[in-house]
Amino acid sequence: MNELAKKSKKIHPFLVAIFPILIIYSHNIGRVEIEEIILPIILIVGSALGLYYFWKLILKNENKSAIIVTLIIIVLFSYGHVYYLLNDVAIDGFDIGKNSYLIPAFGLLLGIGIFFTIKTKTVLDNATSILNVISIVFVLVAIGNVLLVTTEIVSCDKCTIQELFYEEIDFSSNFEQHKFSIFENQKIPDVYYLILDEYARSDALLDYHEFDNSEFINFLESKGFHIAKNNFANYPMSIQSIPALMNMRYIDFLSYEIGPDVRNYKPINGKDYGLYANNQVIKSFKEMGFKIITFNTFTLTDYENQLSDISICHRNVNVLDNKLFDTIVRTTIFGYFIERWSEDELRGVTVCTLEEFSKAGNKFEEPVFVWAHVMLPHPPWIFGPNGESITPGKPLLITDNPEFRGSGWEPKYQYIQQVEFANKKTMQIVENILEKDSSAIIIIQGDHGTAWDLNWLEPSKDDVYQRMRNLDAIYFPDKEKRGLLLDDRTLVNTFRTVFNAYFGSDYEILENKMYWGWNAKPYYFEEVTNHLLVP
Ligand SMILES: [Zn+2]
Repeated sequence: MNELAKKSKKIHPFLVAIFPILIIYSHNIGRVEIEEIILPIILIVGSALGLYYFWKLILKNENKSAIIVTLIIIVLFSYGHVYYLLNDVAIDGFDIGKNSYLIPAFGLLLGIGIFFTIKTKTVLDNATSILNVISIVFVLVAIGNVLLVTTEIVSCDKCTIQELFYEEIDFSSNFEQHKFSIFENQKIPDVYYLILDEYARSDALLDYHEFDNSEFINFLESKGFHIAKNNFANYPMSIQSIPALMNMRYIDFLSYEIGPDVRNYKPINGKDYGLYANNQVIKSFKEMGFKIITFNTFTLTDYENQLSDISICHRNVNVLDNKLFDTIVRTTIFGYFIERWSEDELRGVTVCTLEEFSKAGNKFEEPVFVWAHVMLPHPPWIFGPNGESITPGKPLLITDNPEFRGSGWEPKYQYIQQVEFANKKTMQIVENILEKDSSAIIIIQGDHGTAWDLNWLEPSKDDVYQRMRNLDAIYFPDKEKRGLLLDDRTLVNTFRTVFNAYFGSDYEILENKMYWGWNAKPYYFEEVTNHLLVP
């Protein structure tokens, strides 16, 4: 046998390493770009290669080394699937207990496998051939999967361009020019805008959680805030709601500009032209000479906003920014630790943002627009009512609350604990800002309400009513301007009202409309205004 044929025989570890990458890629085509597949291949196949040479050095046997590497990869990558399979039938949900016997069990299995591979006296040529054939079949199946999904995309209107090639679209023709008039010597107010993701309206907090939020609401009212009573979000998801309000218009134009069946989020959360970061509100403030302060909260985006003058509270940059690699690694034996670690990161940036929010403006002489969007009270459930760290799945303070004692993990209760933490931090923020400068404008909003037992694809009137009721609190420093804040407002008019009230703009206040949509179809909008507004 010549050298080449001999070498090509040990291909199974590398095929086995490529298989999970291809399978997970096939589930995410359209959401991740093709070049994102390169990094996971380099890292995972590279590690397999490194391991192979490591074992070859020790055992001086190519067949055995290759089989050991294949065993290691199978154990690492099947772990997550076995874990979630067991987790599904568990009673107490997500918990470290399972990892504490599952990890040793997998370790033992792997140890036994490696032991017998090393000890065996056979040449293992047959085993190698069989493994090669099996791994080739697996990779072919994975490639078939990729092709199948790609064919589906190609057959959908506009999906080829938007999901496979990500053609950038210039949306600017859809926006009005910002007109304003600021007098010389006029005191220009700083504007603070805090989005508390999924923070529901008070009556919804009562309806679904029996939680009375009046302490927080009374505090805000005592400071001069107007809290809307019959307000709604215009869209049920952050990825629609925030781009609409930050661009001061309904985003129905995306349906024909991008295509109603397209799933790619880039037109919304992309770094360069995405409507979340690259928005009209920030551009308008910049035109008026404001400095822009944003926070790296990795909610919809995990990059610095290019339009901002400073961006605060960075997490540590890491390789998991490659979404495909992140997803792959989460299914492995390391998934548990990666989840805990990314929760720590999220806690870190959230607390940092809430701490720095009121202080950020001190850095500039110019007026500032300070904008933060935090994952609070939105899941994951990682905070107790005073900001204590919780691991999702682990009941917090059960012994302190008799009514929850023994009831186990209760997401609605965890949600309320995050509402309580958000309240505490928000009250501090409001105190700090007003103490420093009572002429600032402060806006605190949820981008939509909650989604308990909600049918996304065929929502009932109640589902829509639950999801669209969001917190909407606005502070105008001048009492006579507070009359512009209406009880039955929707988010899309927030900055139209602010610019009209304080910057001499003359924006039309848009008719209140609400649209339904879900994450698999971000550009499909179904009008549900009738469900919410009595004609
Ligand atoms: Zn949201």
